[in-house]
Amino acid sequence: MQRNLRQQLVNALSNLIPPACPDPDMDDTPRLDACADENEYASRVVEVGMQLALRRRMETRRAEIEEAITRMDTGEYGVCEDCGDDIALARLLANPTARLCVHCQADRESAPYRRCA
Ligand SMILES: [Zn+2]
Repeated sequence: MQRNLRQQLVNALSNLIPPACPDPDMDDTPRLDACADENEYASRVVEVGMQLALRRRMETRRAEIEEAITRMDTGEYGVCEDCGDDIALARLLANPTARLCVHCQADRESAPYRRCA
């Protein structure tokens, strides 16, 4: 089963970065003098911002997948990082990069709301 999950992760990794995504290290900041008017400039600013956000999200996802593959190599895959219990197979099949069991994940997600109560 872990071999199938590993293959799923490797496939996901190879499908991550579409070539149209900008490189955040390249300066492709829109310039007002290169645009026909302020509306085009505003559209370009929004477009570049969205592309950078997408790229950041993909880089985060890439890191999550690479970390999951590393955990497979070290034998730590499928073990909850909070409680040490096994993560349910159904959860790993649905989310192969899961680092927490469903109970610990739920605890983390509800924690901010408990502080406000
Ligand atoms: Zn747990």
